[in-house]
Amino acid sequence: MAQVTCSFCGRNKKDVDLMVSGISAHICNFCIDQAYLILGEEEKTKKSGAKPKFKLKKPKELTAYLDQYVIGQEDAKKVLTVAVYNHYKRLQQKEDPDEIKIEKSNIIMVGDTGTGKTYLAKTLAKILEVPFCIADATVLTEAGYVGEDVESILTRLLQAADYNVEAAERGIVYIDEIDKIARKSDNPSITRDVSGEGVQQAMLKLLEGTVVNVPPQGGRKHPDQKMIAVNTENILFICGGAFDGIARHIGKRLNTQPMGFSKSSGNVVADRENLLQYVTAQDLKAFGLIPELIGRLPVLTHLDPLHKDALKRILTEPKNALVKQYAKLMAMEGVNLKFKEDGLDFIVDKAVEYNLGARGLRSICEAIITDAMYELPSDDTVKELIIDAEYAKSQFDKSKFKRLQVA
Ligand code: ADP
Repeated sequence: MAQVTCSFCGRNKKDVDLMVSGISAHICNFCIDQAYLILGEEEKTKKSGAKPKFKLKKPKELTAYLDQYVIGQEDAKKVLTVAVYNHYKRLQQKEDPDEIKIEKSNIIMVGDTGTGKTYLAKTLAKILEVPFCIADATVLTEAGYVGEDVESILTRLLQAADYNVEAAERGIVYIDEIDKIARKSDNPSITRDVSGEGVQQAMLKLLEGTVVNVPPQGGRKHPDQKMIAVNTENILFICGGAFDGIARHIGKRLNTQPMGFSKSSGNVVADRENLLQYVTAQDLKAFGLIPELIGRLPVLTHLDPLHKDALKRILTEPKNALVKQYAKLMAMEGVNLKFKEDGLDFIVDKAVEYNLGARGLRSICEAIITDAMYELPSDDTVKELIIDAEYAKSQFDKSKFKRLQVA
């Protein structure tokens, strides 16, 4: 019988611990170990290797993409896309002989809940070739208290970057509900406020640029956990919040101001329906953000409230509009689904009536269409379903919404 030898190193079977046999070759345990090491090395160079290249996308290109998904919000789109474009440019900046260093411009967005703040950030993330994560300010607390340290934000970013630190260091972070860490009182001498001002203080360094030790798996730091050092200098932070009540404050401010800005330019009348568009850093300060934090979020933008027209467009126009999604689902059953104009109006009116904004459109649609989605898959005779106001109303009246209203 022929001697069994390793096809890679030639060792004899009796000189090795294990020999794995293939169709016409053998490999010994030494060669398996060696091959495994090579694989690991290869992975490592892939991760830390060549500097990542990204295509510079111009603000208008970015906006054109956003427009496919997000309705309206022109101001926020402009500000966000410019910031992202500049962020790319900063990252590509070489040592400048003039020593002009482009500083990062973190952003703060003010807008009612359900108007698209998170959605804008998420959609932007899809086109970005940099790591991106969403964090929630409400879970953050000052170090030493129950809750998450601000460093946990970076844990998410590291995860998004697949633990490639270099990639994470040029990422973008969206921090939601930044208004929830506002100081509860305008009086700074009040006893320490764990969830508010302390967290704002803790965030300052992070926003500005510092090296932070990040627990790779999140959670609280403990002494024997291995930390990853992340430099936040090139990370772009975008914050968003509803700032409930700030519109009233802006309104008051505009009333008491002699409208200095408008006198010279004729009679600019404040648009009372959309006061957020006049938001300034002073309003944020009055709301309870500390000036140091506001200073580190130099770009301020707002989201417009969504009125009926916008809600109707959201229902029908975006690439993955709800109406298109339901039609697709029904088409899979061989049913042609159509929404009549008055049916759409009914849905929009209910979203407004229940004060649910764009977020409510989905649950109202579900209430209307669930019965059909239950019945039709077992009924081959129905080939078409038309949702008009009458059908929508009869379904809606049977739903939990109606019961909620009665209760
Ligand atoms: P928030 O402003 O509270 O962060 P979201 O961005 O989470 O609100 O919006 C909730 C949902 O409503 C989104 O997932 C999206 O489906 C829809 N939506 C909100 N605003 C818009 C918009 N301007 N265009 C299209 N869809 C929107």
